[in-house]
Amino acid sequence: MALLEIKKAGDPVLKKVCEPVEKIDKRLRNLLDDMAETMYASEGVGIAAPQVGKSIRVCVVDVDRENRKSRYDLINPVITYREGSVVDNEGCLSCPDLFGDVERAEKIRVEYISRFNKKKTLEADGLLARCIQHELDHLDGKLFIDIAKNITKGRKEK
Ligand SMILES: [Zn+2]
Repeated sequence: MALLEIKKAGDPVLKKVCEPVEKIDKRLRNLLDDMAETMYASEGVGIAAPQVGKSIRVCVVDVDRENRKSRYDLINPVITYREGSVVDNEGCLSCPDLFGDVERAEKIRVEYISRFNKKKTLEADGLLARCIQHELDHLDGKLFIDIAKNITKGRKEK
């Protein structure tokens, strides 16, 4: 596995709408593993392919990164259900040291393809739901700083 360079806000790859994945093979699984390794090394809870310069619809999330036991590799993910609304503070590996309040759905259902080419459905709430919504925005070329309110340098004291 290898650590990948994380693209920062201002890089055009972060503004592109990503293409669906057509072939799930060892190369893609290697990319997912490298993305996960890069995410863990950067103490993130999610990473999307454009953040490592690949304009394809995949992301990796793990909201329990310390234990590395809740990792999801989402290929061609689509949110098919949203419920409620909640505002919370977010950051992004591509926007170092910036934090802001973002309104997101409280609960979601997401359909995706697994790394072993199986159709899956995931229901999520809390941080996992927030994280997935943030990563899916990346796949559509959107950054959280485009929609966040009260953006601060450094995390806001709670
Ligand atoms: Zn991000």
